[in-house]
Amino acid sequence: MYTREFAQPTDTMLLTAILDMETGLDVDLQVFLSRELGLVIKDRAELVSRYTRNREAPWLVCHLCTAPVILVRTKGRRFHFRHHPVEEVEQKCSISTRGQLSAQQINCIKYNAAKESLAHLKLKGIIRDSLIADENCTEPLVEVVWKGIRLADRAQWRKPDVQVEHAGQRIAFEVQLSTTYLTEIVGRREFYRLNNGAIIWVFQDFDPSLTRTSEEDIFYLNNYNVFVVNEATLKRSQESKRMAMDCWFATPEVKNGQIYDRWVKEEVFLDQLTINPKDQKVYYRDYEYVRAVVEQLLSASAARQSFIDFWSRHAANDCREANAAWTTIRENMRIAMPELLLPADHRSGKFHGMVSLMLSARFGYPVGYNLPRLLNVANTAFDHYKEYLYAFGWTLRLYGHEQLLKDQDTKGTWARRTKIIKEGMEKHDEAFRQDPSFNKLLAFLVPEICDKLAQARAW
Ligand SMILES: [Zn+2]
Repeated sequence: MYTREFAQPTDTMLLTAILDMETGLDVDLQVFLSRELGLVIKDRAELVSRYTRNREAPWLVCHLCTAPVILVRTKGRRFHFRHHPVEEVEQKCSISTRGQLSAQQINCIKYNAAKESLAHLKLKGIIRDSLIADENCTEPLVEVVWKGIRLADRAQWRKPDVQVEHAGQRIAFEVQLSTTYLTEIVGRREFYRLNNGAIIWVFQDFDPSLTRTSEEDIFYLNNYNVFVVNEATLKRSQESKRMAMDCWFATPEVKNGQIYDRWVKEEVFLDQLTINPKDQKVYYRDYEYVRAVVEQLLSASAARQSFIDFWSRHAANDCREANAAWTTIRENMRIAMPELLLPADHRSGKFHGMVSLMLSARFGYPVGYNLPRLLNVANTAFDHYKEYLYAFGWTLRLYGHEQLLKDQDTKGTWARRTKIIKEGMEKHDEAFRQDPSFNKLLAFLVPEICDKLAQARAW
């Protein structure tokens, strides 16, 4: 199951001037509210978190009255800003954004609350019994005040649904049903973060194709991991003497150059989870880590394309335009791929030859050289760049251009040279030893060659 959802702003908005206190700039609402859903949901929680920590230092405010704002989601799943409800009472803004619930909505909430309290009781019971079955947990406490809080702080007291200590880590289990609001979720996160406790939100069920805002407010902040308990997980807990849950988690995957989240469900045990109280995350699979790697790869492939475009267009010529273009490419690459050190002049030293050889081998025709055919490039490599023949040869093979070279070699020169190269490498002739100084760049130009470069190191 793949998901890829973008947030949407409401068509009309009461507050249209939102000031970012960090940058001092107005927020472009269309851009801010049209980003990937997970990012907007995380920022929605961040706004409430910052207000909870220090209401004097808000992040986003109404530009007209400077009251902190919150991000509200409508029934139609669209986003818009409102003054923070506490501030709305105190502040006098020319625009009122007070939300009002109709009598019908209130009845609906009451009805859901009653219906949920039964489900709540049942889930709490399953969690408690699963923890009792777990040999590595202390006795679970149900609806008991989180111990160790100073009496003076009793206004902050929390009663987690179930709490337990597992391998020295205190964990609160909270049942998530649709009536848990963002302010409550954020309040608990802040509380457990300060008290070095972990929190595991437990769902009754989960369908990644039909997620509710109240679920999204939790799992986007929890590394895209969702935990579900039911009669079947309880049975597994009791059989294995380890607390069992079902875990739904997303993995970012690239399709057509864009990132999609693939959702998978696995049966997991509490002792398999990574618990990070500082960031208030408990997870089985680390979405954020993989996401960073995937984004790095995407930016690498974009950087590679612009490098190749430059080389194809300019590297065979000597003109002022090429120099200016190289300066731009080099600066962009410094940001996108800081580990690749590019020379100030693209024609310098062995650099120009090495890049031209590799790209020619990759594409099957001369790139960076004013030469007629691939065969001429191969002969240039043999005459001047023996230390890159190993990488050159593997690139030809990996990109399927060996036969092309044979076809062009009507005089048999290259065939004779291939024999010399092969013998030279077998005898470990120093002239053919791979020069590793450009390995990172080689791997960047031809990522498929990484393994071969690593093998050459043993020589
Ligand atoms: Zn205002």
